[in-house]
Amino acid sequence: MAKKQFKAESKRLMDLMINSIYTHKEIFLREIISNASDAIDKLAYLSLTDDTVEAKRSDLRITVVPDKDARTLTVSDNGIGMTSDELEKNLGTIARSGSLQFKADMERENAADIIGQFGVGFYSAFMVSDEVTVITRRHGEDTAHCWKSSGADGYTVTECEKDAPGTDVIMHIKPDTEDEQYSEYLETPRLQSLIKKYSDYIRHPIRMEVEDYRQKEKPEDAGDDYKPEWETVLEEKTINSMVPLWQRPRSKVEQSEYDQFYQEKFGDWQPPLSTITTSSEGTVTFKALLFIPSATPYDFYTREYEKGLQLYSSGVLIMDKCADLLPDCFRFVKGVADSPDFSLNISREMLQHTRQLKIIAAALEKKIKNELVKLMKDDREKYEKFWSAFGRQLKYSVVENYGAKKELLQDLLLFTTSREGKLSSLAEYVEHMPEDQEFIYYVCADTNEQAARLPQVERVADKGWEILYLTEEVDEFVMQSLAEVSGKKLKSVSDPDALPETDEEKEAQARQAEESKPILDFVKETLGERIKEARVSKILKTAPVCMTADGPMSLEMEKYFAKMENSSPMGPMKAERVLELNPSAAPFAALKSALDAEDKDRAAKYVEVLYHQALLIAGLPIEDPAAYTELVCSLMN
Ligand code: ADP
Repeated sequence: MAKKQFKAESKRLMDLMINSIYTHKEIFLREIISNASDAIDKLAYLSLTDDTVEAKRSDLRITVVPDKDARTLTVSDNGIGMTSDELEKNLGTIARSGSLQFKADMERENAADIIGQFGVGFYSAFMVSDEVTVITRRHGEDTAHCWKSSGADGYTVTECEKDAPGTDVIMHIKPDTEDEQYSEYLETPRLQSLIKKYSDYIRHPIRMEVEDYRQKEKPEDAGDDYKPEWETVLEEKTINSMVPLWQRPRSKVEQSEYDQFYQEKFGDWQPPLSTITTSSEGTVTFKALLFIPSATPYDFYTREYEKGLQLYSSGVLIMDKCADLLPDCFRFVKGVADSPDFSLNISREMLQHTRQLKIIAAALEKKIKNELVKLMKDDREKYEKFWSAFGRQLKYSVVENYGAKKELLQDLLLFTTSREGKLSSLAEYVEHMPEDQEFIYYVCADTNEQAARLPQVERVADKGWEILYLTEEVDEFVMQSLAEVSGKKLKSVSDPDALPETDEEKEAQARQAEESKPILDFVKETLGERIKEARVSKILKTAPVCMTADGPMSLEMEKYFAKMENSSPMGPMKAERVLELNPSAAPFAALKSALDAEDKDRAAKYVEVLYHQALLIAGLPIEDPAAYTELVCSLMN
């Protein structure tokens, strides 16, 4: 019979498995058992709504049988089974989530290091076997199918016999080599300890015949000098303790168990940054085990990423990714929620359960927030790691839905500030504010270094007041959304009212503006529509010029919208630019004297230079760089 070929990626992964020198080959058993358990979950789920499911929930089991003579290890389940199509699809290709994730990481990292940390799935059987046979019958079908492969050269699928629905995975164990004792995977005690180690929490019984050493019954005619005799008997036993991890009290679980559970279940090669357990008995009873990943998943900011928690009801998996359980702001959280309140004859319409879901979701939201606040307080380093992975998500969530979640999230935000360039929460900022400081100041720029050097920063910084450096596009929207924190208004350093003014200062300002009017008019006339207004600056200290914006749209927002394609049918939105001039700086005097000397040509050139400087320092594009350089050079003549 002609062999079918594996899809290209499958072949690559398969090669990798077969030739793997990875020391943790033993994880193959965990992978095969976890597939068996998933298949049983699927059947158990079906049994909730489908009366034709024969197996009683209490009969569902996984069986592990080593056969030293045949050199095979068989893992059987009485789960859902596969149709021949499913066999082809599932075991002939590799276009599934776990494996895809693996592939993505394989390309990034050293492949050998991540096999085994990852859910590499069914193919891992080839790390220890030279031939794998899968005999499977799908629930509801009469015919069974047999899939067979001895490696990367392909596989066959044939019809065959099988008494009951379910799947047998028969692994023919490789011969021992000098370096590898594959025979150990045929030894009962070894298998037993592997099951305990990796699959203890699997909710279905994993049954295996184990040797029991026990005292023989005392014969009736035994005399007084009878010495108890011992014998070895084979007995089928459930090896795993079956209690799901989330049902066990936290104090009884090692962190390493949580880590392993998380890594296996959610296909992460790193342990979680933080583990959260919570439970509630009340209107809705539930237990949840949640994890915050250590790093941003590679697809986190793409459409492919799906948020959600696994939802169980009394040990039956109801839904793999229940989105309603997690608010969007915490969509990075992974985990499991288990509630007996989703009755076992639940209909597939989860809609009927929205009330319970909402209650659980609200409780989880609060719990996650509190845990994050605690983390920020107790382990700042870890929190900053969290922040670098998921801070952006939190900021976007502050802005979303008209700031609906801003109260919840504002305590969790961190920004770099002018104080030692360190990250600070808004509460910490407020704590540091001296009495005479009215506002929380911020400045927008592309980088922290740029922010520190912007001309409009100087006056606030000179007062010794801290400034938040906003370097992400979303930051300014966050400021607008929050508007104030602990009764302190958020204020841009570019805001004309950024600094308090005495009445005298105000008068002097007005006088200055009046005196400078002819100059300002000239500037506006020269620049035309390029600016909305030229103004005597209240925010500059020593720098000669800067660009700010009037109205709700800031320069940073203008940059942001410029980057988005087709932002508006009327063309990109523009901020109302204001050119601010410092009357006490030398260039202003130069401009004035050129005008006094009625050298309008020279004065116009000065205006152009000042305008372009303002653009440059604000990080705004220059319309005609060539013309600008020519202009500067002409002034040097
Ligand atoms: P993953 O478990 O990450 O999806 P695997 O390579 O381990 O990847 O398995 C591929 C697919 O084959 C599974 O998703 C499942 O649909 C199917 N499968 C594997 N083992 C079994 C089994 N024992 N019973 C039913 N289906 C199975």
